[in-house]
Amino acid sequence: MRLEILCTGNELLDGSVVDTNSPYLMERTLALGLPVLRKETVPDDLEVIADAMRTIGARADVLIVSGGLGPTTDDLTVDAAALAAGVPLETDEAMLAHIKERFSRRGVTFTANNARLARVPKGGVAVTNPFGSAPMIALKVGKAEVFLLPGVPREFRGLCDQEIVPRLRERVLTAAGHTHLALRILKTYGIPESHLDELMKELPQRHPHVKLGFRTHAPENHLKLFAEGPSPEDAGARLAAAEAEARALLGHRCFGADAEEFPAAVLASLQKSGATLALAESCTAGLCASLLADVSGASRTLVSSAVVYQDQAKTQLLGVDAELVRRESAVSAPVTRALAEAARAKAGATYGLAITGWAGPGGGTERDPVGTVYIALAGPRGLVEQRHRFGFDRARVRLFAAYQALDLLRLEAEGVTP
Ligand code: ATP
Ligand code: MG
Repeated sequence: MRLEILCTGNELLDGSVVDTNSPYLMERTLALGLPVLRKETVPDDLEVIADAMRTIGARADVLIVSGGLGPTTDDLTVDAAALAAGVPLETDEAMLAHIKERFSRRGVTFTANNARLARVPKGGVAVTNPFGSAPMIALKVGKAEVFLLPGVPREFRGLCDQEIVPRLRERVLTAAGHTHLALRILKTYGIPESHLDELMKELPQRHPHVKLGFRTHAPENHLKLFAEGPSPEDAGARLAAAEAEARALLGHRCFGADAEEFPAAVLASLQKSGATLALAESCTAGLCASLLADVSGASRTLVSSAVVYQDQAKTQLLGVDAELVRRESAVSAPVTRALAEAARAKAGATYGLAITGWAGPGGGTERDPVGTVYIALAGPRGLVEQRHRFGFDRARVRLFAAYQALDLLRLEAEGVTP
């Protein structure tokens, strides 16, 4: 079954609005084993939209159209659909009454142009839109079943979930010979994309119905597994087998799957043993704390985070020896160690985690050029420390430093020796 998307709107072509409607639909139809095979974006121009619908109608089985269903004169999608289908427009009186009723319920005056919302190409069907005024319209153009959806993302998404996905699911379940898909994203940290590829190189031979995809979400790398099967159960079983093998190969470098996020995985590792954490952040200036605090329930684990940015703050807030800071420089192993131990002791936490570094572009020394980061973790098993060179721009040095520190903590809490 061939599925396509047509997005309409000048704003999508002048750079002012990024299309988020298509990805929303694509993700959901892919999960049905129905990938979107082509997406086209056209301006608010009657002839251009009609032309695109005619062309797509000749080759696709299903076409989803986004945008241009509003009441204003620049909303042309219904007119274009009628033109493409070669049928006149009619007013759906029941829908018109429904729309008028919706306006009065909301205390909004029904202006004459709103009657445009109840126009349907002859032979088409208007479907009530619980998320807005403009109904969804279903009609046939060429051989394609066409669904016109409002462009407003909230309405588009609501109708996708409520109307489009169930219809497509029904179609794929009843279609003879349809290939079903099951997907898993395994999320990793600490393994370069090329190594990930190398590590997985024998997987496709042992699992011929599973395709691999690699995607970098720096500093994470994601491995996608797409399993195909003649039924959803077969695809699921094939996915489970390949996933188990991939997870075994990845070991502790895989921190989660699908919607699971890295900071939540870090907290989960700590929460297994009821451990708590105190941070001392210099170059990351609270980034670690902020990542963790994005997760609901973080307060059970995160006790405190001291942003000890200037040299004197390291002494004033955490009591690190000023002479040590002067002698060794703030970006150094001894100072980072002292910060981790002080943070842990002051908070009475299970772990004290400290980060210092040169985020750049200024600063750095001969020994520790820009991009150098020291990490120290003080915990029940003693002290672990690391020195890294993240030779990127400022934002990346800070993000990579925060991830590396949190990953060190995660592995320590899991009892993994890095
Ligand atoms: P309206 O009744 O608001 O006119 P409509 O169905 O005519 O709704 P549009 O006019 O195309 O839809 O767009 C409405 C709003 O949704 C605009 O703010 C537009 O920028 C946004 N929008 C349209 N298409 C997309 C898209 N593909 N992705 C994200 N936003 C979009
Ligand atoms: Mg509009």
